[in-house]
Amino acid sequence: MSNFSRDPILLTPGPLTTSLATKMAMLRDWGSWDSGFNAVTGMVRERLLSIAGAEGAHVCVPLQGSGTFAVEAAVNTLVPRDGHLLALINGAYGTRLARLARMMGRRVSTLETAEDVPAAVADIERLLQADSSITHVGLVHCETSTGILNPLEGIADAVARCGRHLIVDAMSSFGALPIDARRVPFDALVAASGKCIEGPPGIGFVLARRSVLEHCAGNSTSLSLDLHDQWQYMERTTQWRFTPPTHVVAALSAALEAFDAEGGQPARLARYTRNCEVLVRGMEELGFRRFLDPRVQAPIIVTFLAPADPRYGFREFYDRVRDKGFILYPGKLTQVETFRVGCIGAIGPDEIRHAVNAVRDTLAEMGIEGAAPG
Ligand SMILES: *Cc1c(COP(=O)(O)O)cnc(C)c1O
Repeated sequence: MSNFSRDPILLTPGPLTTSLATKMAMLRDWGSWDSGFNAVTGMVRERLLSIAGAEGAHVCVPLQGSGTFAVEAAVNTLVPRDGHLLALINGAYGTRLARLARMMGRRVSTLETAEDVPAAVADIERLLQADSSITHVGLVHCETSTGILNPLEGIADAVARCGRHLIVDAMSSFGALPIDARRVPFDALVAASGKCIEGPPGIGFVLARRSVLEHCAGNSTSLSLDLHDQWQYMERTTQWRFTPPTHVVAALSAALEAFDAEGGQPARLARYTRNCEVLVRGMEELGFRRFLDPRVQAPIIVTFLAPADPRYGFREFYDRVRDKGFILYPGKLTQVETFRVGCIGAIGPDEIRHAVNAVRDTLAEMGIEGAAPG
């Protein structure tokens, strides 16, 4: 371990490195009945809606827990018990979406493509036309297990043309990639506090179409994951149903202020894009190669192929890079050995350059001359 008492930079898909102001917002104990705290909750809900231009037709329902809790709540509340979900899969989060829907007793079909291939609009449309029992489509916008970008707009249009409902897991894209509810039809879009909004982890939230959510009472098979009940309670009382993660709410509010001050989604996308470019250029100079075709790569997280050199092992590589102050992330692919490096969080190109230098020094320490894959 390093002797310096500085937090490492998190180059992961979340939790992420947060700003000092966001961390400092957590140094206060709030009462859950306190009107000041409930006003913060109200402001956070409004700001999250406005990021997606969703103030008109949607409501924001926050939920305690990690992002998966909110995905599970959205599916469990919006898909009727006799509904039928088509889950689009090209990675671990799509697989998880299908799994949680099945565990809640929903009928699930899947459309699976390879981990480096985005879901194709024409295939989805054909499936929806062939099977009228499918009521909902579940899509992961940026599939974080590789960093691949799925074509949200085209898929949303196709689902709407076919008269079905769309649930989007936009966990790792919300706040960074443009999503406009006025142009892109969706019934629910799910994200979380600890990703591109750069808050701490602990809250998921769903932007749900009001006219749909209104009719979802009694769908949920779970009390704590009942989004309709959570929404109704919050509307009635301004309070959270069950103990709120008060510190996380306060820090999320601070993170949203920084988000606006930076220039909102376009500014965040520009910074992450720059981070991604500096990362890819630096790593390719060391010999690393990307898993994905650049045309389908989102500037969120990059999957690199492991070096072919027999001296390489992820555990040692990871430990040595961590001792230099940077936390990498293991790969999540079954067929090829990879690792991932995130471009998101309260970091800029300088941090990325330092991280690439740490990787270069680590390769030298391990006696790896070129990082080219096999
Ligand atoms: C982070 C993430 C989630 C949620 O994962 P948790 O571990 O529950 O926070 C879901 N989907 C995607 C695409 C993600 O990146």
